[in-house]
Amino acid sequence: MSTSVCVVGSINMDLVVRAERFARPGETLLGGAFEVHPGGKGANQAVAASRMGAQVSLVGCLGDDDWGSKLRGVLAGEGIDIQRVRTCEKEHTGIGFVTVVPSGENSIVVASGANWRCTPEDIEEASGIIAEADVLLLQAEIPFETNRRAIEIALKSNTVILLNAAPAEGLSTDILRDVDLLVVNRDEAATLVGDDEREVAPTGLARRLASFGPDRVVITLGAEGAIHFNGQEMKSFEAFPVDCVDSTGAGDAFVGALATMRAEGERLKDSVRYGCAAGALASSVAGAISSLPTRDAVESLIRKAIPAAT
Ligand code: ADP
Repeated sequence: MSTSVCVVGSINMDLVVRAERFARPGETLLGGAFEVHPGGKGANQAVAASRMGAQVSLVGCLGDDDWGSKLRGVLAGEGIDIQRVRTCEKEHTGIGFVTVVPSGENSIVVASGANWRCTPEDIEEASGIIAEADVLLLQAEIPFETNRRAIEIALKSNTVILLNAAPAEGLSTDILRDVDLLVVNRDEAATLVGDDEREVAPTGLARRLASFGPDRVVITLGAEGAIHFNGQEMKSFEAFPVDCVDSTGAGDAFVGALATMRAEGERLKDSVRYGCAAGALASSVAGAISSLPTRDAVESLIRKAIPAAT
């Protein structure tokens, strides 16, 4: 069975410093431990889908620097097809500058670099891969017109279009029109429908989002699980109980697992459960890529939660 997922998206190196608190404007603060981790929503979700057993191709851009070479090695080591990852001359790889404080909260500024040089021409070069994929998986860390071109190709070839509209700030809702499945967290849902909607319940947000065009909407709710709306029925999914250590990567684990199960032709209801299990496991381990679970781990959590006889 073909279970191919084509991810078009960002690839970053995250430079992380631990500090007692966030620096104030104008202040230089001496921090603690320094760590370097692969990241970017495109790369994270590609790894998440690959660990779930999908055949994954990644389309994106890296800079012509050491970070880019290191990231190529990491992605290839995960079994991801990176033939359509282009190296941009005279450009740096996308870098996330991350500060983490003792409560586990973080603040991140991204220097997009090569990610913002990913153009509709890059998509043209990858059109065969997109057309043959079962699922096209997009986020919002590359230019809008690049995602738009990928959607046009997927529409012509009946490839399922899954958009994780993150980050949602500044994103036009026009992009939602042709999407089969939209996945957002609660904050992103509120941002997309408008700031005055922050108080609206998730079910109300899902209805509003569906009115922009996607066939199905999934809103992830952290430790409260997720909801799914198919234009008629609203369904809630409980979170799997785990000890949350660091929720970084939970959303990417959820989306990668959901995309893989949809590529395998699973019903959306079952696919969302896989997503919830993957997200729960990711939140129980520190880091982003380091916390993304394998298919075995996800299925074992699902088996523990549902007695085999029922
Ligand atoms: P994001 O990282 O994009 O903000 P969420 O925090 O909503 O996404 O997490 C995605 C999914 O991961 C949730 O729908 C939920 O199923 C699972 N998850 C996240 N945090 C926890 C948690 N503390 N306990 C159990 N499951 C969690």
